[in-house]
Amino acid sequence: MKLSKTNYLIYRGCGKNAWVRIHRPDIFKKYPLSAFEEGIIETGNEVDILARQLFPGGVFVEDRYDFEYTKKLVEEKNLVIYQPVFETEKYQIACDIVVWNKDTEKYDLYEVKASNSGEDKKKKDELYTQDIAFQYIVLKDSGVPIGKLYLTRLNVEYVRNGDLNINEFFTKEDFTERVLENEDLVREEMQMAYDYLFQEDEPAGHCDCITKGRNGHCTTFEYSNPDVPKYSVHDISRIGLSKRKLEELIDSGIYDILDVPEDMKLSDKQLNQIEVARSREDIIEREEIQSFLDTIEYPIAFFDYETFPSAIPRFDGYSPYNQIPFQFSVHVLDKPKGELTHEEFIYTGEGNPDVPVIEALQKLIPGKGSVIVWYKSFEMSRNKELGKRNPAFETFLSSLNDRIIDLEDPFKDQFYVHPEFKGKTSIKYILPALVPELSYKELDIQEGGTASNTWNRIVTGEYSEEEAGRQIKNLLKYCELDTFAMVEIFKFLQRVV
Ligand code: SF4
Repeated sequence: MKLSKTNYLIYRGCGKNAWVRIHRPDIFKKYPLSAFEEGIIETGNEVDILARQLFPGGVFVEDRYDFEYTKKLVEEKNLVIYQPVFETEKYQIACDIVVWNKDTEKYDLYEVKASNSGEDKKKKDELYTQDIAFQYIVLKDSGVPIGKLYLTRLNVEYVRNGDLNINEFFTKEDFTERVLENEDLVREEMQMAYDYLFQEDEPAGHCDCITKGRNGHCTTFEYSNPDVPKYSVHDISRIGLSKRKLEELIDSGIYDILDVPEDMKLSDKQLNQIEVARSREDIIEREEIQSFLDTIEYPIAFFDYETFPSAIPRFDGYSPYNQIPFQFSVHVLDKPKGELTHEEFIYTGEGNPDVPVIEALQKLIPGKGSVIVWYKSFEMSRNKELGKRNPAFETFLSSLNDRIIDLEDPFKDQFYVHPEFKGKTSIKYILPALVPELSYKELDIQEGGTASNTWNRIVTGEYSEEEAGRQIKNLLKYCELDTFAMVEIFKFLQRVV
């Protein structure tokens, strides 16, 4: 029984989750990885492989358990080793890259992360320090001469122009000092993690997320807290931001949202959510809905993008993780009770989709009237980025943004509250409550993460021609439903006023 770095890092996030991962894989793997999680893993692998070009000509340790082979490579002082594996009596690691430093006669360690250098820096740097410290301790204890410790991640300021410049794309930050400062602390924590994770008996009682809002829960919450109902106090909108209130409820043994005391001090929005859950009756603010509808001008274009966030910029003008807009759908309602038409566009060629997408927008979106989207900051940000990369179209894209109206707003503002919204305003909650006959469930692609990954697989040639054709149809159907759903929700609002 050896503790891997992965399990140690999961333990740092949540001990119970790591225990379940090791001892109850049946529970831990009960839910398949989401498309989003799969995408993160694929991106991580892609970036790891690319980072090897920083130190070309290395030897790759293919088997993650071939400790003897790694030992031999280290003894031979191989200059560069990719994915070497090491173990001590209790711990084991697979490093990303180690490089022999002829001056110091030691190996320097390079830990590769597929994250942006600017992203959530303080929190991430703390985590990466622990990550590298775990490796440093195992390397040191297994007798490897170890020198500098580097973190290699994606340079947020890098903008591609021509061939990818590996040395500019990756940053190399020296973490040696902060790792050494934390060595004793991490050693202690590794021992605690080891003792906790290899105890035979399952840690008893609720897990720590019992006092966190639903967004913070992992997939094993239900298993660890079987007495908490599916729709619980954890689902009260933004309750995760009021930890004290949630603790108060839990300490009083109140789990069901219906049991929240009537005199509890909560925001109006939270109280509305609880009220409709109890009464099973919708809240409808007709005047406010009418005022919202009055801001919309015909012809109305119901519009939605699909995009792919590429960690490695594929085209000129792109930085790490910029979204590539590759598809859109637009339903157009020309006048009140008028004709509804549908247009769509998808780019599956090898080049940069920017200009083909913009030209299709110019052709297919009416030159006047409102453009209705769901969660406008997403579509507006894509238009801004497209304009920045393609200045010739900046005026057009900015005028498009001037016409955007967010159909999520009346739900965010609670002009309409339905018990089945359950405090959420995503279209995936609003649609089934208001228009139950329309559903994503019959579609092969049911959410944006899968759409994104599917497009990537098409353009990187992972599918046969036949399969790619089938998947393109799936993408078109999915995006079409996104905009048709908005049409039906819009008509629903018109009916209720
Ligand atoms: S729900 Fe939270 S506390 Fe419970 S196991 Fe998952 S991450 Fe840990």
